Amino acid sequence: MQLETSSPLSPTGQATISKPGLLFVLSAPSGTGKDTVINALKKKGADFHVVASVTTRPPRPGESDGHPYHFVSQAQFQDMIEKDELIEHAQVHGNWYGQPRQQIADNLQQGRDVLLKIDVQGAATVRQKVPGAIYIFLVPGSVEELVERLNHRQTETEEERNRRLTDARYELAQQEHYEYIIVNRQGQLAEAVNHLQAIMQAEHCRTKPHYVQIQNNTKGL
Ligand code: 5GP
Repeated sequence: MQLETSSPLSPTGQATISKPGLLFVLSAPSGTGKDTVINALKKKGADFHVVASVTTRPPRPGESDGHPYHFVSQAQFQDMIEKDELIEHAQVHGNWYGQPRQQIADNLQQGRDVLLKIDVQGAATVRQKVPGAIYIFLVPGSVEELVERLNHRQTETEEERNRRLTDARYELAQQEHYEYIIVNRQGQLAEAVNHLQAIMQAEHCRTKPHYVQIQNNTKGL
């Protein structure tokens, strides 16, 4: 969300203050529908950058580099960690995922809101490293809905699905660490999308918005 504010109080009447973007962290158990909610919000015209993670997970049919992830080998991933190119990284459902620091820093600097779509471990790391990020947790209407969605999408083997369900129970227990909870009920997508939009807009209306500082390639931020 690019914010250009012309201050009506400026003596010259010309003051244009370009503000940095805000950093949002969105976590949700697998199958909660976070991509659906994000895509629907983008379709409504909201302008924010969703970071394309780097992952060692093999691409699924229909996925390609950058959509939705950058697919790399274990060795490449390790190299990125050593060069401090990832703001956080975590093993999720047996694969490694990480958030490229530069992509986040560049977008924030350009005044664009950034959304990190990461698991609860990644959120915990960012919470320690980047004071000021805004934490949102998306939950399903019920555990039954989650099971149904995971079974329906058929992108994982039965073993992977079971693992994701086990992980979901742990992840749901972490929601108390987040500032906002959004429920994505079956058949109520618009409500979840409106809530996400309202949160993102409200954060810009704070008297002191939570701007964050992210350095490029500095050890320990
Ligand atoms: P999937 O492989 O199904 O797209 O994602 C599996 C899980 O990995 C999701 O919970 C997603 O939020 C999480 N994830 C995706 N990218 C990252 C990342 O860069 N860091 C962390 N910590 N988790 C991620």
